[in-house]
Amino acid sequence: MAEIPDSHPRKASLLSRQRIVEATKNGLLADSAMIAHGRGEAFDYLLGEKTSDSAKLAIKEVAARLMAAKNPVISVNGNTVVLAGKSLIRLAAVINCPIEVNIYYRTEDRMLKLNSLLENQKELLSQESGPKGWDGIWNSAVMSVKILGKLGDGRIEGLEGPRAICSAEGIEKADVVLVPLEDGDRCEALVNLEKQVLVVDLNPLSRTAKMATVTIVDEISRAAELLLEYAINNNQMPTEWNNNDILNKSLKIIASNATI
Ligand code: ATP
Ligand code: MG
Repeated sequence: MAEIPDSHPRKASLLSRQRIVEATKNGLLADSAMIAHGRGEAFDYLLGEKTSDSAKLAIKEVAARLMAAKNPVISVNGNTVVLAGKSLIRLAAVINCPIEVNIYYRTEDRMLKLNSLLENQKELLSQESGPKGWDGIWNSAVMSVKILGKLGDGRIEGLEGPRAICSAEGIEKADVVLVPLEDGDRCEALVNLEKQVLVVDLNPLSRTAKMATVTIVDEISRAAELLLEYAINNNQMPTEWNNNDILNKSLKIIASNATI
């Protein structure tokens, strides 16, 4: 892997890109993962590659909704595991919820690889000390995070074919689903099932972003770290949320950045 000097102004973005390339080589991602990542990069560039104040509001709202949920689940695809798997395992440990691997082009090989990457990360994370401000036995909180998805014993009503497969204990049962980088039609199907759908998507104009209950317009690895922090320090209940308002705010940021 080429060395990127610390002084490079876009180091974080280049490192993420390398992780996606490496993971594709290792068979963890479908080829289209790079296209999805590239689209995200383009929007992140326009947003200034930082978490906006309005995204922080959305992250706080998502943390509050996950903490208040009866059966929350974090659904992850390949890109999400590669870019933010560790932070999301920490988040799942704090919330006490399962993680479900749910990928667009489901193959047994990629499901297995993503599953074992998360299980390995769990082992590693269970040996570190708990995050700042969190009270409890970190080792057992991390080790009790269930990694679901291998067993496709649930169905998402309203979708056809392999896209409908999910875990009965995960997405099927959940009242609140955090699904970073979700596709529009699955987001719509989950909303139609009256679940709260909390998404992370850098494109405020995507069908997913417009359809979701709460949209975090931010890069997944930055958003996941803040989600963890806000979940630990959560001091709010879910609010009446106007999602169009938050999407318009991110569009305004893009517009204001779009002058030379
Ligand atoms: P939709 O189906 O919702 O209209 P799409 O088909 O245009 O969206 P997909 O290819 O389904 O897009 O999913 C990729 C989405 O994930 C894009 O909207 C992209 O901006 C976003 N994305 C990609 N990488 C990241 C990332 N690292 N962090 C946050 N969002 C990302
Ligand atoms: Mg799509």
